[in-house]
Amino acid sequence: MAAILVYSDHEKLAPELLTAARLLAGGKGTGIKAVAINNAALAQDLAGRGAETCLINDAAILAADTAAVASALCQAAEKLDAAIVLLSSDRRGKELAGRLAQKLGAGSLADVSGLKAEDGKVQCTRNTLGGATVAVQQIETDKAVIALAARSFEAAPQQAGGKVSELAVAATAPSVRLIETRSKASEAVDLQAAEVLVIVGQGVGKEDFPVAEKIAKILGGEIACSKPVATDKKWLPEDRIIGLSGKKCKPQLALIFGVSGQVQFTVGIRDASTVVAVNNDENAFMLQMADYAMVADAKEVLEELNRALG
Ligand SMILES: Cc1cc2nc3c(=O)[nH]c(=O)nc-3n(C[C@H](O)[C@H](O)[C@H](O)COP(=O)(O)OP(=O)(O)OC[C@H]3O[C@@H](n4cnc5c(N)ncnc54)[C@H](O)[C@@H]3O)c2cc1C
Repeated sequence: MAAILVYSDHEKLAPELLTAARLLAGGKGTGIKAVAINNAALAQDLAGRGAETCLINDAAILAADTAAVASALCQAAEKLDAAIVLLSSDRRGKELAGRLAQKLGAGSLADVSGLKAEDGKVQCTRNTLGGATVAVQQIETDKAVIALAARSFEAAPQQAGGKVSELAVAATAPSVRLIETRSKASEAVDLQAAEVLVIVGQGVGKEDFPVAEKIAKILGGEIACSKPVATDKKWLPEDRIIGLSGKKCKPQLALIFGVSGQVQFTVGIRDASTVVAVNNDENAFMLQMADYAMVADAKEVLEELNRALG
């Protein structure tokens, strides 16, 4: 199999791509190249995980300018003889996948959660129909650009054998000019990194949110919500939404209160190791997909749990 190139500007996701590349290459780690752009610390991190890492240093290539990044990666793929490029399926990574695939004449899939090499082609596992089904799809072209969903693979561990070398590419004229960067006013939350999520739906009253949040903190996790809690009721910020329009998470434990369990929600939590759901309707879909289902009033269970953990 030709070389596999991995790239993400996200420091937590890039090491996961390295693991995926190694699995695809048959665990040998041969023919795998990592690329970092204008980020020497990330390049060193990947090298520390055993990757041959190419560092492209060119201030003209802005991370926000995906056309410029796609052009740089296209040149890198050609110089390094890479037929498969693995990217992270975050917002920027998905746009990059499309642009890069077009440049390389490659087939491309995003939101991929599993990979397998089969007869020289790559088979990708991904949710389809809004998460109602899981499909295995094969990229038929010789070249493939694949964007992998966060936390589909463990981060590659530290290992010897990696090194960083510089790679020169010709920066294209910028299509985007960065005028200003502002940090978000609200506290940033990384739901996908949380091992425990306490998720509230419309069946939970706003007055019970502080208790839910306290339980999340005691358990070392984060509070999250169904979409209408954020978009309709505005009780939590939109970066706390779980599901098709929000985050797809893979926590060890998801405690879910007052959520009906429509597929647009469950697609965001179906990969949790353990799901505990509380709903006062015994026919709620959410209870059917839970490992532990409780037919009860969410308020009462939240208060009881708070007392028990208190
Ligand atoms: C294109 C599209 C994208 C979407 N994306 C998302 C998404 O990313 N995330 C998402 O969440 N939704 C999404 N939705 C909306 C989704 O279809 C549902 O409408 C939404 O998930 C419902 O939220 P909910 O379960 O909190 O509310 P409801 O459906 O109103 O359910 C509330 C639940 O609480 C229970 N309940 C009520 N009172 C209590 C109580 N006292 N104690 C215990 N249980 C109680 C009820 O029995 C019910 O099951 C999307 C929809 C579309 C069309």
